[in-house]
Amino acid sequence: MVKCSFCEKPAVYINSISKLAYCKRHFIEYFERRARRTLRKYGMLREEEHIVVATSGGKDSIGLLHIMIKLARKNPKWRVTAVLVDEGIKGYREKTIENLVKYAERFKVDYVIASFRDYIGMSLDEIVLEGRKRSLPYMPCSYCGVFRRYVLSRVARELKATVIATAHNMDDIVQTYLMNIISNSWDRVLALTPVRESENSEFIRRIKPFYEIPEKESALYALLNGLVKPEFVQCPYVKYNIRFTIRKMLNELEDKYPGVKYGLLRSLQTITSFLKSPPGIKERHKCIVCGEPSSQRICRACLYRIQLGLVERERVESILKLAREDKDLERFLRYYDII
Ligand code: SF4
Ligand code: ZN
Repeated sequence: MVKCSFCEKPAVYINSISKLAYCKRHFIEYFERRARRTLRKYGMLREEEHIVVATSGGKDSIGLLHIMIKLARKNPKWRVTAVLVDEGIKGYREKTIENLVKYAERFKVDYVIASFRDYIGMSLDEIVLEGRKRSLPYMPCSYCGVFRRYVLSRVARELKATVIATAHNMDDIVQTYLMNIISNSWDRVLALTPVRESENSEFIRRIKPFYEIPEKESALYALLNGLVKPEFVQCPYVKYNIRFTIRKMLNELEDKYPGVKYGLLRSLQTITSFLKSPPGIKERHKCIVCGEPSSQRICRACLYRIQLGLVERERVESILKLAREDKDLERFLRYYDII
């Protein structure tokens, strides 16, 4: 039996880089200290905040919610609301919604569940079928990611939130980093910072308090605190996403060469510091369809909505009319096969 490096109790976790072993109590202390340190290091929170915690009901986001609630209880100027975006994925999302509801009732947390059906007009399952019918070139996860961010921003604005906290951990970040290198999406690489702000005052600041925390630690934190059941539920669309192959590959590399993920995170930080303030990542525009902050004239969610036939005909016609006098807009719409 391996003993905790800080007491006599049996270890539940060994950090593969520092080689330190932790019992349950010392692991929870260590984990919360790291999260607090990340919040401080990147100046994530201000004196007075209404924090929306984006939660899927899974282990990482429930763990983040738990930490934010603990912090807010010590700071009366911080208020926390959990927001769960229900994409409408049959047989999957119902289970994680149950986790959030149970957690919120147990710890008396305010929460909102917002569905794709209410904000976009269709569930993800319906969107995927409609997209196939229309031969659109997108994978389920592309719609899911774009619409989820869109719904989250809309709900956060309705709640008058000052900041949105997401549970992206180090593994998520380095996976996304590699995916964006592969697709040559440098604007998205540059969006992978621990804090994301914009010159546009309507853009709600986004923070990632688990930016430097490995996935296995955030999962263990939720399990040791009894926040979620140790069951495995997987989205049926996972097989279409390159992320999961990259995740497997990175985990294999990390097992063989501990520190690979930290190395990639440092590489990402170097690149973002070299390429600061590129023109594409600022939400300079207001989407001409929905009014949300956007880096383009029409935000990606509205582009998809137009392509899926979810924007009223008159609205689309007025945009096409505008494009007749606006060459940039015309080029943009042509690029997406809208005209
Ligand atoms: Fe959405 Fe894809 Fe994740 Fe499923 S696997 S929840 S479709 S991003
Ligand atoms: Zn829009």
